[in-house]
Amino acid sequence: MSGPRETEEGGRPLLLSIDATVCTGAGTCEAMHPELFRVGAEGHAVVSRTELTDSRDIEAATGVLDVCPTEAVRLTRAAPSGEPEAQAP
Ligand code: SF4
Repeated sequence: MSGPRETEEGGRPLLLSIDATVCTGAGTCEAMHPELFRVGAEGHAVVSRTELTDSRDIEAATGVLDVCPTEAVRLTRAAPSGEPEAQAP
């Protein structure tokens, strides 16, 4: 298992998002890190920041990604163009 995902790889941020098609809205993410996640009126989680560069935010998002029961949390590394490149390791 690798350590916390870092931004040193080209200095590109990690992009955080939620796959609303699989999120159940149960709120584990919000309970763990309300500074990053909240369950919206639509019934699924939304993120308060989409580009993560702070190591604490990245660790928090990684922790939620590891426990989300539906694997709805997406953490990808931004491509140089700003488009998502690939699922972070
Ligand atoms: S923990 Fe996962 S399934 Fe639950 S509300 Fe958050 S993103 Fe959705």
